[in-house]
Amino acid sequence: PTQPSETSACVFKSKLPEIPISDHLPLHTYCFEHLAEFSDRPCLIVGSTGKTYSFAETHLVSQKIAAGLSNLGIKKGDVIMVLLQNCAEFVFSFLGASMLGAVTTTANPFYTSAEVFKQLNSSKAKLIITQSQYVDKLRETGENFPKLGEDFTVITVDDPPEKCLHFSVISEANEGEFSSSTVSIDPDDPVALPFSSGTTGLPKGVVLTHKSLITSVAQQVDGENPNLYLNPDDVVLCVLPLFHIYSLNSVLLCSLRAGAAVLLMQKFEIGALLELIQRHRVSVAAVVPPLVLALAKNPVVANFDLSSIRVVLSGAAPLGKELEEALRNRVPQATLGQGYGMTEAGPVLSMCLGFAKQPYPTKSGSCGTVVRNAELKVIDPETGCSLGHNQPGEICIRGSQIMKGYLNDDAATATTIDVEGWLHTGDIGFVDDDDEIFIVDRVKELIKFKGFQVPPAELEALLVSHPSIADAAVVPQKDDVAGEFPVAFVVRSNDFELTEEAVKEFIAKQVVFYKRLHKVYFVHAIPKSPSGKILRKDLRAKLAIASPV
Ligand code: ATP
Ligand code: MG
Repeated sequence: PTQPSETSACVFKSKLPEIPISDHLPLHTYCFEHLAEFSDRPCLIVGSTGKTYSFAETHLVSQKIAAGLSNLGIKKGDVIMVLLQNCAEFVFSFLGASMLGAVTTTANPFYTSAEVFKQLNSSKAKLIITQSQYVDKLRETGENFPKLGEDFTVITVDDPPEKCLHFSVISEANEGEFSSSTVSIDPDDPVALPFSSGTTGLPKGVVLTHKSLITSVAQQVDGENPNLYLNPDDVVLCVLPLFHIYSLNSVLLCSLRAGAAVLLMQKFEIGALLELIQRHRVSVAAVVPPLVLALAKNPVVANFDLSSIRVVLSGAAPLGKELEEALRNRVPQATLGQGYGMTEAGPVLSMCLGFAKQPYPTKSGSCGTVVRNAELKVIDPETGCSLGHNQPGEICIRGSQIMKGYLNDDAATATTIDVEGWLHTGDIGFVDDDDEIFIVDRVKELIKFKGFQVPPAELEALLVSHPSIADAAVVPQKDDVAGEFPVAFVVRSNDFELTEEAVKEFIAKQVVFYKRLHKVYFVHAIPKSPSGKILRKDLRAKLAIASPV
């Protein structure tokens, strides 16, 4: 979309003043800029073992990795793939690659062979850092499949299988063998190649530069009054996968910059999670709606001491105010709020101002206010004209934090970032009188019932507020008369008495007629992506076959 210039454009900005941002630096230099102030403080805490790395150690090991990768022939501009669950080696590898001027592409270790190779081919990664249990996937042979040991090198963080190297080959290199002063890194050089979640289609490779990530981190944690105030006394929960940009940026990079400790957890398991929060006195919990659901609804939560939590940040998917209220009962002392992100946006567009050092009052259900040093507008999807307060339309963002472009796809880049530099998100939302942003839903997910628009996220938020509903998702079902109507997939809590009629009535009482549910299917689980999104496309596919359950 390339809309004509409008002088009357209504542009929303943060309530926080603009700040100078050190975006001329390489990302690792920026993250470690204040290292001397907290070099002996804990930087990484490995949840499973309790092992702790200080900031100085984290910096040193990353320098060794840079030397080790350089010894293996990795140079500025080369791509490495990190195919790992959350662990300290993930962090060292990402930072070490940055020091070399190399680029890290992150991938889900649960990907199939075909999915990994697709990303390997498009990113042209020369080296993969993984765990031995995933190596078999990298040995598949097929047309266009590069060969392990010939076309790419594999390093494992545990005992290396045949033709693979052990992580110590790079982590024990002599840091003196590589000097970062020998590479010159331009702020517009890429440093990370994350992939979008693949909620609406195939995951898209996104090029993020040193400048984009520094800008995004600074928008969150820099300044006299940071939007997301983190400090060296904080312990920040890192259970969301670092291969997704939310966790990599808002948890890891923001904590590094602010001197906060990062508690690494390999995977989500409610008992282990609560135990770790209690043991390490977690103060900041970055979560996604499925995790909020567990924290708000699971009875075991009551057996743990969560009094250390001062901030709960939810992002990546819609969180209804009903669920937010339910969570508030579990952590009454904490500030709850949301961030709104999109991989292409670097990824943070907006953040709750209740997390600021001098906080502002905020409303439940809001996704925060646009980050500082950025501009946001809401446009009419049909005309492209910008809209004022309280009028829903497509959200667009502009600033140095957004992506350079999609990987190998100039056409897709040109339809997403217009000639004036606005990134079009594909999300429908509005900005209220207090400049708080509310997301309605994605343009593509809106259900069209006889010309009326039904946002599934709104119905899902109501459904999960029912005490007998553990989880829910709403999708369109095709219909000759109405075009589409909303149907729900519902997971019952324990009450197997809950009937389809009762669910329909529960919704009908609370919404306008065209948003009523026409059908309810009871299921055991709702499909979700690792980044916490409902995979509505999977449910739509289920509906397309005769009997969906
Ligand atoms: P793909 O683009 O591959 O289909 P994706 O859009 O889910 O997948 P991400 O970049 O991880 O990939 O997610 C960005 C999207 O997540 C946003 O466009 C928005 O729809 C949704 N989102 C993120 N944060 C929030 C939030 N706080 N509330 C509602 N939706 C959110
Ligand atoms: Mg997307």
